[in-house]
Amino acid sequence: MTKMTSTQRITMAAEGEEPDRVPISGLGIIGMALVWEELFGPDSWMDYGRDAKKLAEAMVYSCKELGFDAIAGLPDSNVVWEAIAEASGLGPYPATHWQRWVGQGPHRLYEGDPLKDILFGNPLVKTMKDALKLVPADPYKHGRFPAIIEATELANKELEGKWGVGGFSGAIWDVGCLMGWTQMFMAMRDDLELWKAVEEVAIETCYQITKAMVKAGARSLGTVSLLPQWVGPEMFLKNPVWVHADHPPELFERIYKEFHIGVGIHPCTVGPWEHAIPVWKKWVEEDHVPSFMLCEYGGADAMARAKKELSPATVVGNLHPLDVMMYGSPADVEAACKELIKKCGPGGRFILQCSDFPPRTPIENLKAMRSAVEKYGYYPIEVEKL
Ligand SMILES: [Zn+2]
Repeated sequence: MTKMTSTQRITMAAEGEEPDRVPISGLGIIGMALVWEELFGPDSWMDYGRDAKKLAEAMVYSCKELGFDAIAGLPDSNVVWEAIAEASGLGPYPATHWQRWVGQGPHRLYEGDPLKDILFGNPLVKTMKDALKLVPADPYKHGRFPAIIEATELANKELEGKWGVGGFSGAIWDVGCLMGWTQMFMAMRDDLELWKAVEEVAIETCYQITKAMVKAGARSLGTVSLLPQWVGPEMFLKNPVWVHADHPPELFERIYKEFHIGVGIHPCTVGPWEHAIPVWKKWVEEDHVPSFMLCEYGGADAMARAKKELSPATVVGNLHPLDVMMYGSPADVEAACKELIKKCGPGGRFILQCSDFPPRTPIENLKAMRSAVEKYGYYPIEVEKL
């Protein structure tokens, strides 16, 4: 058999068949930052997510040099609220002034007091009057989306459609940063009109982002879900406001109808996620969710159980970001990959990944993922020998 392209490999795996080998996907949100640093040095962080050509170069490098089958050029998860803030004339917004990629840490070059500003005491949106000023972001104009979309287009062209290029559909909860998280939950409970005014702008923005991503060539789309694994399925499903905020069905229906594409889910958490499975199962059936990019929890066994439960969706993950990717050696990475391939590989519907690669993960450890699939990932997987 002639060697498959990465696109064919991923498509086959996602359809529940065994391709030539287990695909490796990577470098979603934080991973791109590692490659960026490798190529352009840490001093160029200020351009990160603004320079489309460099971002495309990092995406292409990840596929062609590091051997990943799929790539997405997303800098971090603050892109949505930040673009809405800019569209609504509420800039400047601190997220783009981070000195270096450190997730919501203290390293941003922000003049205000982060403890009293966006996230806590003095958020951009406090009242209905503020909320009514919000307008949906235009992904070709606002925040870092123009660069991300252009990079996606450039990378896809350069990769000639042979690699999987992914995109971000946005996430509704991201607008919690505009209000402050606590205030968002309070509004969901006590001031539904205020919350709905904000949510509406988020939903329309996410639709526009998705449309632009698909146009730029993204073939798989992802969003982040937080609430079901935070509160558990019983509490979650009893609260229609939360359900809608985490996963508005009309948005995913619209996307599916128009673009014939389902939006994968990334439960962004390091910690137990298994108890959210009943909710996700419902979304697989009702909202065409094709995949779950799962974080580390419970190792390869939990991943194998999730694969079974979430059928026919594909599971993507779940190398441990810290123990394995950041602090482990290439040999540790290889051993963890081998275990995942053995327990989750057979039958397809599995893509090897680390959901969020932490900063300072050694590039050697990224390369070890590729060598592991070369050694152990070819189908049929000889489970007894691994
Ligand atoms: Zn995450």
